[in-house]
Amino acid sequence: MNKKIISYLTPGASIEEREVKGLKLRIHPTKHERALYPFSKPDSCPVKLCELATIDPVARVFFFLKREILRVPWIYNPLIASFPILLPYDEQFVDLIFKRDKSVYAPIEVAQKDIDSLADDVFKLEAETFGLFMFELMKDPSFRSMLTTGRLPKKPKVILERLDNLITNPATRGTFDEILRKHHDRLGKIFEVLLRQLPLISGIEVLKEAKENGDTLLEIAENSVQKISETLLRIGNIIPLSYNAVCLECVLRKQLAMPFQATLLYTKDFSLIERCHQCSGRTILHRINIHAPSDLIALIQDERLPEAIVGYTLAQLEDVEEVFIHKKVNPVINGIVKRGAQIDVLAITKDKRLIIVEVTRQSDFETVLNEELIHKTTLLEQIGLKYDVFVCVSGLSPKINHGLSVIKAKRAFLLGLKHLSELENWLADRLKIT
Ligand SMILES: [Zn+2]
Ligand SMILES: [Zn+2]
Repeated sequence: MNKKIISYLTPGASIEEREVKGLKLRIHPTKHERALYPFSKPDSCPVKLCELATIDPVARVFFFLKREILRVPWIYNPLIASFPILLPYDEQFVDLIFKRDKSVYAPIEVAQKDIDSLADDVFKLEAETFGLFMFELMKDPSFRSMLTTGRLPKKPKVILERLDNLITNPATRGTFDEILRKHHDRLGKIFEVLLRQLPLISGIEVLKEAKENGDTLLEIAENSVQKISETLLRIGNIIPLSYNAVCLECVLRKQLAMPFQATLLYTKDFSLIERCHQCSGRTILHRINIHAPSDLIALIQDERLPEAIVGYTLAQLEDVEEVFIHKKVNPVINGIVKRGAQIDVLAITKDKRLIIVEVTRQSDFETVLNEELIHKTTLLEQIGLKYDVFVCVSGLSPKINHGLSVIKAKRAFLLGLKHLSELENWLADRLKIT
C-alpha cells in the first residue's frame, strides 16, 4: 500500500493541517468517508484495483467507461456494473442500425412490439400477486398497527421473520401457486419473450455507449484486443467478472432463429470473442459485468473509485509527497478559516506546491468544461484556495481530444481518457514548467 495516500480519515475525529506555499489548509473527512474505509486495508479489492490501475493504462481507463448499474434485489446482494463494449466491428452494418434502416431494423421493431404487448399481462399479474400478499399481511395485527401509526415496530427483525413466514407459509404458497397456474399460458409467453427479445432490445439501447467504450479501449490498447483481454483477466483476478457476447449480425443481418451467444460466469480464464462462431461476423456486442463485493459497492455507486484511481496514479510521482482522496478542504487565511470546498484529489509536492484534481466520468465536452472545470475553478477562486495546477480528468473520448493541455488560463487543464492513460507523465512534465 502506498504510504503517500491518505484516503480514510476517522469521521468527526481527524482534521489534518498542512502548509503549502503561502497557504494553510485544513483537511476534513466528508460525509462520504465511510465508503473510503476499505482503502485503509492493504489487501482490500479497492486497493488492489487501484494498484493495478497505476501500472495498467487499460485498467485505469476501464473504470471511467460508460456502464449501467444492475441490481437484482432479494437474489443477489452484490451490485453489478455492466460495461457494454463493441470491439472492431462492421462499420457499415452498425451505421445501418443507428440509422434504423429497414434492412436491419425490422427484428428490433418486432421485438419491441412483443415486449410492449406484455405490459398488460405483467401489470395484471403483479396486481394480483400484490393483492394476495397485502391480504395475508393485513391479517397480522402488528402490520395493521404499523400501517395506521406509520411507525416501525421496535424490533424490525420480527417483521422480516413474519414476511419470511408469509412467503413460506403453505396457505399463502398455495394461493400464490394458484395465481401462477391460472396465468400459466401468459407466464409462458412472458418468459419466452423476455428471454428471446430482451437481450436484443437492451443491447440496441446501449449500442452507442458500447461503441464509445470499445473505441476508447482500442485507442488506449493500441488496437490490440489481446491486450484488452489480458487487462480484463487481471481485473477478474481481483473481483468476480462475468462475460456475455451476442452476435448482432446473426440477429439483425442474417436474422437467424438461434443467434450466436456466449456467457461465461465468474471466469478467471477467458479472452474476448473476436469472430462469431456461427456467421463469422465481427459485430459482437460484449458485456463485461463486474460483481462488486461489499467493500466496492459504495465506491462504485458514489463514483469514488475513479477519484481513488487518479489519486493512486499521482502518488507514483517522485515529486508528489502526499495525496488526499475526496476531502473537504478549508483554506486558512490570516488565521481565519474560510469557506471550504470538496476536493476530489488533492496532491502536495515535496516543494509544497498544490495540485487539485476534479474527477468525472462525464464525456460531453460542454458539460465537462462548464459544470466541472469552470464551476470548480470559480469556486476555488471565491474561497481563496490557490493552487499551482488544476486538472479536470474527465471521460472525454481519446478521439475528440488527442492533444494534451486544452485550457491554459488560470493554470487549469481539461484532460480526457487519453491523458488519463498517461497522467503521471503529463503531470511530471507540467511540474517541470510550473
Ligand atoms: Zn453471427
Ligand atoms: Zn467530482
